[in-house]
Amino acid sequence: MSLLRVSGLGKSFGGVRAVDGISFALAPGELLALIGPNGAGKSTTFNLLNGQLRADAGSILLGERELVGMAPREISRLGVSRTFQIAETFASLSVVENVQMALLSANRQLFSMWRRAADQHRDQALDLLEQVHMRAQADRPCSVLAYGDVKRVELAIALANDPQLLLMDEPTAGMAPGERHELMALTRQLVSQRGTAVLFTEHSMDVVFAYADRMIVLARGRLIAQGKPQDIRENPEVQAVYLGSGKTFGTTVHTPPPASDPL
Ligand code: ADP
Ligand code: MG
Repeated sequence: MSLLRVSGLGKSFGGVRAVDGISFALAPGELLALIGPNGAGKSTTFNLLNGQLRADAGSILLGERELVGMAPREISRLGVSRTFQIAETFASLSVVENVQMALLSANRQLFSMWRRAADQHRDQALDLLEQVHMRAQADRPCSVLAYGDVKRVELAIALANDPQLLLMDEPTAGMAPGERHELMALTRQLVSQRGTAVLFTEHSMDVVFAYADRMIVLARGRLIAQGKPQDIRENPEVQAVYLGSGKTFGTTVHTPPPASDPL
């Protein structure tokens, strides 16, 4: 049974069909990787799913609910979270205060300037930080954290909404390979426990192959392949798109150079 069913989803900017009639489904507890070269339409797809952009065509069903036409706030209330960059929230607040703000927002409460932040949802926030292994740094300002630690706080913030669906657009951007694996392993573990569905983009094919249950591949707004990582890896059209873009498609793909290759 699918949690999310996207059909014929489309969005154009002027003459550019950024997302061109894509369809896919996502089940509870599933980690689905959305990959494709730069400009393929990945971020646009995320922005359509969370309501920041309104689709020109198609449908996004979350359970029985149609999300097309809903505001981001309504979609978030239905249990769709996205990871935000902490810079967009409050870098000057402490780690735990950032998570408290997210909990207040999830509970539709206003942050009261007349009550100390320390009083509101602190225990629950500390519990979330424990889950992302950041409890020891709870009282440090977010602005002083190491980059990988910021990413884990962002994950805690996204989980504060207790999402059914978690959207992660390039969650490991700017991270070292070891940190990428760590963050995705943590995500995998947390969402498995909760049964959360995850849609994520990721440039490192090693990470995608290690953590995705399934993949969908976009190129110029079109969905050109979907399936298990192993099948996608061997898909000639996918390989062509990646090789054509000058990017490597994982260390495990060995495509011999053409015989005429001057090198
Ligand atoms: P990706 O995330 O896969 O790199 P995007 O979804 O950001 O791709 O972009 C897909 C296409 O849509 C690109 O051609 C991009 O230039 C275009 N595009 C994205 N957002 C906008 C926008 N707000 N206005 C105009 N064009 C956009
Ligand atoms: Mg993008």
